[in-house]
Amino acid sequence: MNELELILTDTFHCSRANLYLNSPSILLKDKDWKRLDKIFKDRGRQVPVQYILGYTEFMGLRLKVRKGVLIPRPDTEILVEAAIEKLQEPKNRKKKPKILDIGTGSGCIAISLAKFSQDTDILAIDISAQAIKLAAENAKLHNVESRISFLETDIFSVIKDRMSNVDNISDRKFDVIVCNPPYVSTSEIGVFDRDTLSEPRLALDGGSDGFDFYRSINKGIGKLLKKDGFLIMEIGYNQAEGIKNIFSYGWAIEEIRKDYQGIERVCIMKRITNG
Ligand code: GLN
Repeated sequence: MNELELILTDTFHCSRANLYLNSPSILLKDKDWKRLDKIFKDRGRQVPVQYILGYTEFMGLRLKVRKGVLIPRPDTEILVEAAIEKLQEPKNRKKKPKILDIGTGSGCIAISLAKFSQDTDILAIDISAQAIKLAAENAKLHNVESRISFLETDIFSVIKDRMSNVDNISDRKFDVIVCNPPYVSTSEIGVFDRDTLSEPRLALDGGSDGFDFYRSINKGIGKLLKKDGFLIMEIGYNQAEGIKNIFSYGWAIEEIRKDYQGIERVCIMKRITNG
């Protein structure tokens, strides 16, 4: 839903379809006008509409959002769809595949994978306590809390932990790793969309060229993936070439998928070496 649709479906307490079919016949009560007035005032102060309403829609699911946690974007649905496709390709199909979601934020990726993919075993991590709390609330809202383990930790601790015990090492690896990392270059935060200034820098800031996170995980992340496993990451505009250079050894770039505006947005990589 676009911004106005979010506001109007909230005000009219109706679905998006009903907004277009029935809105002329819906009468607003006094309290609805007051709420609408407050929404527009907050919006005028540059508060993103999703923070004002306290929720957004992602993959058709209503998810809670609040300040301190990145607002899920429609572009990230392309990442989820890519992961579902990869998990369902006959040659990749596994019984209860293991999935790792790095920097889960609101939990949007992990929760929609649990909802719309086959039976999976998902670990969702984030270094933000606020994010983990919100993601767990969202998982509960959609009855998938028993299918996702949420952990407040960083990816390097997971790598260290999984590698410290060499027994059953392949059991400790993942079939698919998904990630929407911070990838906006520091100087561009808020330039194209001022609303992002209200969002946590931690979730957006990818350092001076936007590639800091990718560079930092490049060494260790392969150790967490089974051979032929997939690393599916969101990337920023103009980052496809840079990503190919960073992930040049041990990976085959399967596809770079474009977003709804035709911008290269999701990189699908396959792990082609062991360890
Ligand atoms: N797509 C977001 C933006 O451009 C960035 C999200 C991110 O850094 N992961 O605002």
